[in-house]
Amino acid sequence: MALLLRIGLPAAAAAPIAVAQFAPWRESGFAQAESRLLAAEELYPKADRPAAFALNATVLFARDAPWSEARAMSQIRKTAEIFRACEIGLRRVRLVRLRLPKPLRTIDTAAVETASGVPENVRILSERLPPGIDYPAAFLIGGVRGEASPARSYRAAAPDGPHPPYLDTAWIAYRAHWIARKDDLYSPLAHELAHLLCACGHKKTAERHLLHPARNFLSSRVLPEHCERFQASPLLSPTN
Ligand SMILES: [Zn+2]
Repeated sequence: MALLLRIGLPAAAAAPIAVAQFAPWRESGFAQAESRLLAAEELYPKADRPAAFALNATVLFARDAPWSEARAMSQIRKTAEIFRACEIGLRRVRLVRLRLPKPLRTIDTAAVETASGVPENVRILSERLPPGIDYPAAFLIGGVRGEASPARSYRAAAPDGPHPPYLDTAWIAYRAHWIARKDDLYSPLAHELAHLLCACGHKKTAERHLLHPARNFLSSRVLPEHCERFQASPLLSPTN
């Protein structure tokens, strides 16, 4: 009888969020990688409202770069909020934690390979992604060299063309997480994913917004024209 009581007690308590544990990501080509799928409550801790469009993604953070799970989650949650304003909900997000050897923690955007058209480390790291993952794939890494911006993305020229693993990828330097912003809700991860979704560059306007070319004018607000372009992106998935 006492045993039954003990078994019954936890059911009476508030149901905890079912958070998946990290498990070895053996299908990948990374020597040290673990992954887990994020629960909807982790993406939207306040309330998960249905969205008209769904975005699935893979987010990888380099623990020794030195990203942490909490910092990666902060970027992902800000991104979820920013895109929700465009009726796009993050749905299936695989979070991957990695250990990378020092030479692979930085990309140099000024040194692009002739054959791939991307920096060598972008190709090398992307080629370790297992087939069948959700794109876009965002790497939270140690550094982005070769330009003033601490983040970069590489998008496929044509959605129906060949898709080498390094296209539709985003690369965020650790320093981008810490840069002081006028808008605390802004996220460099959202900014890079926005480039991939809209297949567009920056737009200079008098108002602050997500894809402004000037750092002081970056904000979490998305221009209506960019929302429209996101919603037409082949990277989005049907919601049902
Ligand atoms: Zn940009």
